[in-house]
Amino acid sequence: MHEIEILDRRFSVYLTEEEIQGRITALAEKINDDLKGRDVLFFGILNGAFLFAADLFRQTTLNAQISFIKLASYDGTTSSGKIKELIGWNEDITGKTVVVLEDIVDTGSTLERIIGELTLRKAVEVRICTLLFKPEAYLKDIPIDYIGFEIPNSFVVGYGLDYDGYGRNLNAIYKLIK
Ligand code: 5GP
Repeated sequence: MHEIEILDRRFSVYLTEEEIQGRITALAEKINDDLKGRDVLFFGILNGAFLFAADLFRQTTLNAQISFIKLASYDGTTSSGKIKELIGWNEDITGKTVVVLEDIVDTGSTLERIIGELTLRKAVEVRICTLLFKPEAYLKDIPIDYIGFEIPNSFVVGYGLDYDGYGRNLNAIYKLIK
C-alpha cells in the first residue's frame, strides 16, 4: 500500500517495514558491541518509541533493563507557557549506562529536557539512540550516538508515530503529501 489516508491527510510510504527492521538490527548490533560488559538501562520515551524500543531491546544481548518515561505537556502559568513534566522516573540510575530510545528527534527540546534530568540523577554515562533524526530542524548541540535514518523536515507517521493519535500501528513509516 503506497498511499494511505489518516483523518484529513494523505501520506505516502517513506520507509518500508523491511528497511526499518534491517536498520534496527544494525543499531542493536552496534549497541551490543559498544556496551558489552556494562550495566545498561534503556529508557524508551513514550508514546512514540514503544515499538522501536521493543524491537530494538529484543535484539540486545547485554546485561540490560528497560523502562519507559513520558513527557506530558500541559499549559502552565509560567511566562514560557508550556510546561513539560516527566512521568515514570522510578529507576535508580546511579552507576548505570543509560540509553535513551527516541522515535524521532526534531528540534531536540525533548531530548534536552531528558538529558538534563539524567545528568541530575547521576547516570555514569548517557547515550542517545533515535530511529529518526531531522537534521534541518535540530536546534541543539547534544550529540546523538545512534541514528536509524536521517530524514527531511517533513511530517511522518507510522511505526509508533502518530497523526492526532492515529497511525501508530502502521508497520511502515509514511510521509505527509503536501
Ligand atoms: P522535539 O522537537 O522535541 O525534538 O520533538 C518533539 C516531539 O515531536 C517528538 O518526540 C515527536 O513526538 C514529535 N514529532 C516531531 N516530528 C514529528 C513527525 O514528523 N511526526 C510525528 N508523528 N511526530 C513528530
